[in-house]
Amino acid sequence: MLKGVTFGGSGLDRAARLRGDGAALAALARRPGAGVVALRAGEPLVEDGEGGPRLGRLGPEGPLVAGRPSVFLGLDGEAGVWAAAAPEDASPPGGGRWADLRAAMAGLPARDAELAATAKAILGWHAAHGFCAACGAPTAVVQAGWQRDCPACGAHHFPRTDPVAIMLVTRGNSVLMGRSPGWPEGMHSLLAGFVEPGETVEAAVRREVWEEAGVRVGAVSFLASQPWPWPASLMLGCRGEALSSAITLDPKELEAALWVPRERMARAFAGLDPLIRAPRRGAIAAHILRAWLAGRLG
Ligand SMILES: [Zn+2]
Repeated sequence: MLKGVTFGGSGLDRAARLRGDGAALAALARRPGAGVVALRAGEPLVEDGEGGPRLGRLGPEGPLVAGRPSVFLGLDGEAGVWAAAAPEDASPPGGGRWADLRAAMAGLPARDAELAATAKAILGWHAAHGFCAACGAPTAVVQAGWQRDCPACGAHHFPRTDPVAIMLVTRGNSVLMGRSPGWPEGMHSLLAGFVEPGETVEAAVRREVWEEAGVRVGAVSFLASQPWPWPASLMLGCRGEALSSAITLDPKELEAALWVPRERMARAFAGLDPLIRAPRRGAIAAHILRAWLAGRLG
């Protein structure tokens, strides 16, 4: 199993038992240490200190978050933590900045990374799900932000998580890498795609690699997962053994696909390959590839 994946979990106590207990949550919000993680347009408040970046936490009565809808994220030790969206025109409080989470993710402590990923995903869900999918009526937030109920038809709506298979496909000493249109120049990564309704993860791995690159995959195994809140994905890191080598590209999905030998991949991570740039630090693709290069996947 692969450890140390960014957003890979910090053992946060989500305290779901408290979500329906308004009195207990109100008492928790009055206790010392209670904090609110604020995001503006999906960008969390981050403060840079001597030990590196940390997720900013505002007091529940702070001007950016007081009175705004919030989601109870859980207990950090004894302290309650909530998430709230700051106004679109809000300036960050002194010493803080609104951070692109993709850029900041790898530098955050594990607990802060889990809180940030959770806050971004759940606030994004609320922003896009104000109306009932069954009847179109406006819905009401219940369960401290973990559910929306429709007063018109009685439907319950729950936050979405969309599974994405991402796969290290190897053949001998080489790994199959691809590049999507619009990515930063030279960047290549592992192939990936959404798991479809009614499909197993293993079948999704084989289908995506066949559709995008024309390569047949045999045995598939699971490595590790990574919450990826853009907007609501759960990356399911897998390993697959290729049964064929010839690549037939689907140009609608990929701009390039190629087999990259281990030695060249190591040079790409060192920034020494003239054409290939490795996946971004913090992305599960980078974790998986580095583990493969280090021989830690067996
Ligand atoms: Zn409804």
